[in-house]
Amino acid sequence: MKRLIEGIRIWDGADRLVEDGAILIDGDTIEAVLTREALSSYELPPSGERIDTSGKLAIPGFINAHTHLYSSLARGMALPGYSPQTFTQILEQLWWRLDKALDAEMVRVSALVGAMEAARCGVTTLIDHHASPHAIPGSLASLRQAVCKEVGLRGAFCYEVSDRDGAKISEQGITENLGFLATKDSQDLLSTGLFGLHASFTLCDDTLDKVARNLPNDVGVHIHVAEGPEDETQCVAEHGLRIVERLERFGLMRPTSILAHCLHLNNEEKDLVADREAMVVHNPRSNMNNAVGTFDLNGFLNKDVLTGLGTDGLGANMLSELFTAALLQKASSRDPLAAPFSALNTLLFRNNPLVGERLFGIKLGRIAPGYPADIVLLDYQPPTPLSAETILGHLLFGISVHTLRVSGLFVAGRPILRDGRFLDLDEEGIYAHAREQAAKLWERAA
Ligand SMILES: [Zn+2]
Repeated sequence: MKRLIEGIRIWDGADRLVEDGAILIDGDTIEAVLTREALSSYELPPSGERIDTSGKLAIPGFINAHTHLYSSLARGMALPGYSPQTFTQILEQLWWRLDKALDAEMVRVSALVGAMEAARCGVTTLIDHHASPHAIPGSLASLRQAVCKEVGLRGAFCYEVSDRDGAKISEQGITENLGFLATKDSQDLLSTGLFGLHASFTLCDDTLDKVARNLPNDVGVHIHVAEGPEDETQCVAEHGLRIVERLERFGLMRPTSILAHCLHLNNEEKDLVADREAMVVHNPRSNMNNAVGTFDLNGFLNKDVLTGLGTDGLGANMLSELFTAALLQKASSRDPLAAPFSALNTLLFRNNPLVGERLFGIKLGRIAPGYPADIVLLDYQPPTPLSAETILGHLLFGISVHTLRVSGLFVAGRPILRDGRFLDLDEEGIYAHAREQAAKLWERAA
């Protein structure tokens, strides 16, 4: 089916901005971006749908390169005795309490509302890292069903294997990842899988060895690396190696591997990341919230490491995440020129699509012919000239700091949101059910 979205400003995600143009979608793919002149000579077949979105700004759907949908029901949760002094204590006192209390229905609902909120923020692709130690079997298929089928986004899923809850649960995690990877359907371009690992400090050598022996060659790991300083300290003390060296020893430093955070790597580890062409994902708001350190943005970009941006489960608004990335670099270096637009543009609009391409095997992140029709329509009236040269200023100093209003969203040509409403979901019903599940979860986690 053909769809024609007309009457919009279109930024292609790179260097082209069309005023008062149209996007022609054929099935799941963008067929053409039409100027007003070209549109006047185009005739939509009678079976096609014409969508008038006058005054909207169309941009490519965002990609969230590292998130945790399982944290969706944590918002507002009271935690008796919560007083962490270290990052490990944050995990022990908050996240590991929460993840242990999740049952299968809570996992499903977390994914559903997490994906809905992502859609509302213009995210069309998310890369999730899941944990529910007492509800592991089938959890990844449940996430795929909620994210890709019910909400309709693209998703890359994995289960974070960890030895922190004992050998049986670690084993279940391995089985869940391998089982999910084995169900990969080459025709399904909406979902894919990685092999999830929690972090070096909760994984013993035997487990990593088992992962290495069973992991298909083309599949990477998705792991937290040196998020807190104690991850490195423990690795050196226990294994006599830095974390990246340890992953390298097990053959896990792959071009399809995602290393989240990477805050405390030394220069040799960064060189090794670059050499192995592994991907790194920066999560500035989470890092600031956990007070774990400052990401060396320049260091990674200068070494040509494919460095993307994620929210680590702290919301899904990629523009405010990007803005925070800039503020963090400027504030921490006391340099107003730190994190220039070129670096920010690289993070979100060049590298995140490349991360997505490596995982999904398709081109993403542009409104251009041949690309998947993953498109966000924003309500935005620019008070100053808008062009391909000024767009980042508008996105950061306008939309990000004011209100991100997503009126329309398409993923693979499927309309997900129209006039700010989900087309195929009972939003009120789902949120009411989520509140019930959250109350139950909080009681169990207390
Ligand atoms: Zn994370």
